[in-house]
Amino acid sequence: MSATVPAITYNVDLVRQDFPILAREVRPGVPLVYLDSTATSQKPRQVIEAVTRYYSQSNANIHRGIHTLAEEATAQYELARANIANFLGAQTPRQVIFTRNTTESINLVAQTWGRTNLHRGDVVILTEMEHHSNLVPWQMLATEFDLKLEFITVTPDGLLDLDEYQRLLSLTPKLVAFTHVSNVLGTINPAKDIIKMAHDVGAITMLDAAQSVPHYKVDVQDLDVDFMAFSGHKMCGPTGIGVLYGRKSILESIPPFLGGGDMIKRVKLRSFVPNEIPHKFEAGTPAIGEAIGLSAAVAYLQNISMEAITAHEKEIIHYALERLEEIPGIAVFGRPAAHKCGVASFILQGVHAHDVSQVLDRDGIAVRAGHHCAMPLHEKFQVPATVRASFYLYNKIDEVDRLVDGIYKVKTLFKS
Ligand code: PMP
Repeated sequence: MSATVPAITYNVDLVRQDFPILAREVRPGVPLVYLDSTATSQKPRQVIEAVTRYYSQSNANIHRGIHTLAEEATAQYELARANIANFLGAQTPRQVIFTRNTTESINLVAQTWGRTNLHRGDVVILTEMEHHSNLVPWQMLATEFDLKLEFITVTPDGLLDLDEYQRLLSLTPKLVAFTHVSNVLGTINPAKDIIKMAHDVGAITMLDAAQSVPHYKVDVQDLDVDFMAFSGHKMCGPTGIGVLYGRKSILESIPPFLGGGDMIKRVKLRSFVPNEIPHKFEAGTPAIGEAIGLSAAVAYLQNISMEAITAHEKEIIHYALERLEEIPGIAVFGRPAAHKCGVASFILQGVHAHDVSQVLDRDGIAVRAGHHCAMPLHEKFQVPATVRASFYLYNKIDEVDRLVDGIYKVKTLFKS
């Protein structure tokens, strides 16, 4: 083995003890090797306990009650918002809107800002590496409003072609919507530059941060982004809770998304006055326990420090790429490592991605196989499916070794 084992920047064994699921065996005698955090992360007991505590001690509906539990629940929910705003470097908690997930956050922008600001013939710039969540909402709008969708192409190395982006900007787009980190290639896009270039031509920016906020320190004011979306479940938080961050002036100027309770100030039989932000965008009873759980997840990540998590994942991915590329017949997508987060998607010559995944599962190794909700990107690379191994704060170097050993087993089985 030629690869060198790097030093770890914090005690991963201690971190792993916080995640009860990591101690389980997939089958008797087969411990879990969880390499699917890009799809969803595991949850530490601090998050599980925060949610349990809320339901055991303070559960009530928020904003409307005057009894003790309602006040406690409201305070905890709003504290969660403030903690998340602080984590993102937002000017005010009012810029943090709770949604179900990244997908809903992007749809919210499309259906509110998009419907009021995009008109026939307007140009929207996306990229070829988008998750379906940041493609389909714009396609739906483009069909209805006759918009022109343009795409920044992806180079063979898995990077965005920024020269082409510069050329596309001459079309004076109204919106540039792009992913911060690709969930397939692992590419970390230069978001700050892309946003600055968009603003220079007067475009609004929408950042899909589903794969960046869980792994990096992301500061919305430093990025100067207009809208940013991410999901709680990919960052040690519960499912069913996501965030839309928005520039205050824009959030205040656009119409509500869903109609119902809480998003109104006053209602008459034939009219309503919308509430202030953020409530204007949170119709109905929200995911209260989940928001509190997400806040606990943020505190958990901050306690380790985002910088340490980033450094840890960087070491793992460097090691993983070295080891994976030793394997004859493997092709890893999205080089070079310097621009990559903890994601390695690959194909193994002569073996379908689903078969690779199924055989690895026998050894307790959880990877994902398929198009990872990025069909156009897979079409571009002319592969129907890839195998994706993804790493997070709790993964260890020896799990990379187990993955590599597992892939050799697949090769033996399929004589590839
Ligand atoms: N964008 C990216 C880059 C993603 O990786 C994902 C999740 N795979 C999403 C959007 C959608 O996230 P969710 O399913 O939580 O809405």
